Amino acid sequence: MSELKKTVQFLKGIGPAKYKRFQKLGIDTIEDLLYTFPREYEDRRHIESIKNLKNEEKASLRVIVQGDVEKVAVKRNFSIYKLPVRDASGTAYAVFYNTPYVQKSFSIGEQIYLNGKVKIAFGEIQILHPEYEFANNKERNLFERILPVYSLTEGLSQNDFISIQKQVLHSYLDLLNEYLPQDTVLRNRLCDIHYAIRNIHFPQSPQHLKVAKYRLVFEELLILQLGLSLTKSRLIMNQEGISFERKPELYKFIDTLPYKLTNAQRKVLDEIENDMEQEKTMNRLIQGDVGSGKTIIALIALYKAILNGYQGALMAPTEILAEQHLHSARELLEPLGVKIALLSGSIPKRKKEEILKRTELGEIDLLIGTHAIIQENVTFYKLGIAITDEQHRFGVRQRAVLSSKGLNPDILVMTATPIPRTLALILYGDLDISTIDELPPGRKKIKTMCIQEERRRMAYDFAKNQITEGRQVYIVCPLIEESESIEAKSALDIFEEVSTHYLKDFRIGLLHGKMKGQEKEAVMNEFKSGKLDVLVSTTVIEVGVNVPNASVMIIENSERFGLAQLHQLRGRVGRGVYQSYCILICNSKNDRTKERMQVMEQSENGFIIAEKDLELRGPGDFFGTRQHGIPELKIANLFKHIHVLKHAQKEAAILLEEDKALSLGKNIALRRKLVEKFKDTLGEISL
Ligand code: ADP
Ligand code: MG
Repeated sequence: MSELKKTVQFLKGIGPAKYKRFQKLGIDTIEDLLYTFPREYEDRRHIESIKNLKNEEKASLRVIVQGDVEKVAVKRNFSIYKLPVRDASGTAYAVFYNTPYVQKSFSIGEQIYLNGKVKIAFGEIQILHPEYEFANNKERNLFERILPVYSLTEGLSQNDFISIQKQVLHSYLDLLNEYLPQDTVLRNRLCDIHYAIRNIHFPQSPQHLKVAKYRLVFEELLILQLGLSLTKSRLIMNQEGISFERKPELYKFIDTLPYKLTNAQRKVLDEIENDMEQEKTMNRLIQGDVGSGKTIIALIALYKAILNGYQGALMAPTEILAEQHLHSARELLEPLGVKIALLSGSIPKRKKEEILKRTELGEIDLLIGTHAIIQENVTFYKLGIAITDEQHRFGVRQRAVLSSKGLNPDILVMTATPIPRTLALILYGDLDISTIDELPPGRKKIKTMCIQEERRRMAYDFAKNQITEGRQVYIVCPLIEESESIEAKSALDIFEEVSTHYLKDFRIGLLHGKMKGQEKEAVMNEFKSGKLDVLVSTTVIEVGVNVPNASVMIIENSERFGLAQLHQLRGRVGRGVYQSYCILICNSKNDRTKERMQVMEQSENGFIIAEKDLELRGPGDFFGTRQHGIPELKIANLFKHIHVLKHAQKEAAILLEEDKALSLGKNIALRRKLVEKFKDTLGEISL
């Protein structure tokens, strides 16, 4: 076993109790410790002179002990200990609280360093409860250096941590091998691993720190990119696929649509058709803001495959959305002789069996459904294309399963959650990307307004007026916890409140995730057909729902939603010819929340909103990174380090170009590191 894999328990100064505390921080081995980086740094290089000290500011000093410690009893259980000190510029007192031992710590004439908050009062300069270090120690631990600040746990002090980290660097750093290939280090002007680890903990200067940090961020992103590329290429890339032909019927169909495709839709459709006609399997992502018209593009692609004698599958994240796709597909494709069926969790068993059988026999051309399409025992006769709507709920693995149901069918994923291109490369590294960057003409801007909880009556008065004019209204309530029963309750509360108060004269429906598929469908249909004026709902209506007569979207507790999600929800209105409104009811006066709500009021562009969201909340799990198989990042930040990411991606491409599986001798160490990093997240898929 490598020395570095030994537990930190073997280190001097770590007994069983301290070991437990380290474990609590996720540190087990010596290597873990080396890779536990400081949370931040405190620059203690500057030593202030006493005469320049400012009240209430923290400072470091180098002073001479001038006299004995004087004890002052303030209260029964509280004493302070004053140590007189001086430097060339003046005199001061180091003031310690309740620490009798300091009476024996210092001797007159001794040089010490102090760091603490300065208090100037009654003509006396005090350094309150300072950290100190003796100047005649050979090692300077806490002063005249840039000091690391680690995240700690109870019973473990900064000083403990620092001195153990020092010990480890001293005795073990040399055992750490460089795992980046020499070419990579040179090409990217990286420092070596020893320099990086030493300086990330105890930087010699800000410049050293910068160099060290760059290398470690680069390394982490390189490994991430390589890991994703390798796993994904194993899964789905470079397969021989189906080459679909151009059929005149397809263009006849496009010509008979009730509207003209936008230029952006045309461009994206060209890219898709091009892919479909090639031998290679299509793996394409369509990004398009809410309402940009992705559905019709999907239907055209499906029809192209069907005209070629293949089957198509269209998958949606919710039953409601699947229903809606079914509805659109029926309207447009059934008249052309396409046989369509719906497969979802709520379809009765007998019916389901029949659909499965007909799918297997090839009697169904287009199967639409939820995840049931891949979860259940579905066999296709001749699956040519599979399309998934709202990719962000749909990981690599699911796509692989779907793909395995056909003879390498073409794959198209659609998403309304726009992300910057570099990030898309990480998350969807294997996908080509098309963007519908234009909305169909004639859309009116949705007027958006944020109001405080106390004024929600206004929102409901406004809704009343709109309903009287013949419009319909959505009221959305947040998912308070991941628990469905709670989610249902919050919508239920609002439902009762508006039914008995604000909107009691109107027809109100309730929709939440706990309802059965058929119930949901019934409510949704009533709302669509205008039999309901108001729909109180949880976020089950978030994606894709299309009711053009609805003109008001009220969102309760809007502070609980992410901006991207608010944007999605808002996209449920403004789908028809009517001026539409979105009212965000906010139950927080927090500045950041206000700023977030302002973004919603000011922007209607999904890309801008997504970027702002990132800026204001950080990437976190915004992208569902875990679902995408991304291991935890220790030092890199996908958003902040986009420029490094670009370089890392380039390097990954170079390495893989030369050595597809990273199996050459010079890449072995890197490969080992990669397997180690990815084993938890991509366990089932061997690299
Ligand atoms: P999303 O991209 O959010 O899934 P949809 O596909 O649901 O958007 O389209 C939103 C609405 O726009 C639908 O009612 C659809 O019929 C309509 N639509 C799509 N393309 C066009 C177009 N080129 N011109 C006019 N309306 C369009
Ligand atoms: Mg859609």
